[in-house]
Amino acid sequence: MAQIEKPRITLIGGGLAGGLLATYLGRAGHDVTLYERRSDPGAGNFVGGRSINLALSTRGIDALQRVGLADEILSHAIQMRGRMIHDRAGGLHFQPYDKDPAKCINSIGRAALNSVTLAAAQKLPNVRVLFDQRCVDVDLDRPSARLVHTATNAETVVESDLLIGVDGAFSAVRKSMQRLERFDYRQDYLRHGYKELTIPPGPGGEFRMERNALHIWPRRNFMMIALPNPDGSFTCTLFYPFEGAASFDALRTDDDVRRFFESEFPDAVPLMPTLLADYRANPTGAMVTVRCLPWQHDGKVALVGDAAHAVVPFYGQGMNAAFEDVVALDESFRRHGPDWRRVFEAYETSRKANCDALADLAIGNFIEMRDKTASRAFLWKKKIERTLHTVLPRWYLPLYGMVSFSCIPYAEAVTRAKRQDRWVMIVGAMIAVMVIALLFRMFTDERRVACFSIAATIVYVAMQVIIFKSKRWDT
Ligand code: FAD
Repeated sequence: MAQIEKPRITLIGGGLAGGLLATYLGRAGHDVTLYERRSDPGAGNFVGGRSINLALSTRGIDALQRVGLADEILSHAIQMRGRMIHDRAGGLHFQPYDKDPAKCINSIGRAALNSVTLAAAQKLPNVRVLFDQRCVDVDLDRPSARLVHTATNAETVVESDLLIGVDGAFSAVRKSMQRLERFDYRQDYLRHGYKELTIPPGPGGEFRMERNALHIWPRRNFMMIALPNPDGSFTCTLFYPFEGAASFDALRTDDDVRRFFESEFPDAVPLMPTLLADYRANPTGAMVTVRCLPWQHDGKVALVGDAAHAVVPFYGQGMNAAFEDVVALDESFRRHGPDWRRVFEAYETSRKANCDALADLAIGNFIEMRDKTASRAFLWKKKIERTLHTVLPRWYLPLYGMVSFSCIPYAEAVTRAKRQDRWVMIVGAMIAVMVIALLFRMFTDERRVACFSIAATIVYVAMQVIIFKSKRWDT
């Protein structure tokens, strides 16, 4: 294609990443038109079909900061400094995320975040945002998009130089790319679904549980979590299998629902006066991991955010990763423009392996949150991680911290965590062997060599078991 200096760019989707991408591209001076199928959230029309609040962490904040939006957004957020575990008996156990209380994740409303980024884009003279426009098909080679007005059904075809699909996990742009030869695509649904419920504020808007925490009710095969909102309420999300003896499917009547909550989350029930109405009214959502390749076509069309790499929500990173995509694409535009093919290819190369690593981390964290947060072994692992990080702050960084409180690429964080854990196990085994040897030297007679060998073997086997377990935690 001819290399136009200032291309006309069409964005399909004005969700979390779309609004931010329009802001970035608009500030870089590009001519941008964004088409969103929903109505204008600025006109009070926001319909949240997805989770009402989300955890925003360092990567997302960094992306917002670069365009001066972080302070405004964080003013709507509530800091969560650790996990508050609720056991079945109603006991509470706080697990800080980091030894430094400033390292926290932030609970932020999806609607507030979306409105701020879209409003920032709309302020730019070279950005147009059009609502009620649903993309139904894309001609990848022109490129052009066929749009249908959601109220009038009027159809238009818009042509541009570049077209970017920021239209979420069920992307229409990606669907058009799936018709291409040699386009890899894979989607994996979890057996679990999610349902959102509410803990309203107390009298005078007070929080009825600890406000600066992410609350978790881990119950092995399922869990409920709750994130605080600025009005004193909490948005709870129940993650539960769709089908089976213990499942959404099995909770048919109000009595089933009430009995289930009273036996599993007894301390939450008195705080949820609208439980049954919420349960009936709110949909049960599905969670999907999407992997595809390539993320671009012929230097004309690209995918960003969930459209390229939807992940399950358990690391609280989907939106943060989508914001990182925006930064990576913006950098690639600056470095390689106007060679658009290189722009999109370099962006894809910098992000693909990292988003694959995140997809695995997110599934691993589901197991950790619902199952391991309540276990003693998990608490010990966290204690050891915190101690090592305190003693060797440059050398040892816990995986959760690298993912949530740094911008270290996801794949690099995973590799580094595995390397660190391997070293911890080796050094730990050596110290244990030396201590045992010392004790034998002090207290034993001739049999000491044999005893020492046996002890060393036991220690070695134990360490291998721990290494195996820690590998599972790291996935
Ligand atoms: P979306 O936000 O889904 O935006 C896509 C936009 O495109 C929407 O506005 C949609 O209306 C529009 N659109 C779709 N199709 C079309 C079409 N055909 N034509 C025009 N417009 C279209 N991430 C975190 O970082 N932290 C969390 O705590 C977190 N919690 C989550 C909890 C749950 C239950 C779920 C499901 C997800 C969670 N996520 C979280 C993930 C996060 O929601 C997504 O990663 C993020 O929304 C991706 O942004 P996006 O802009 O790519 O997609």
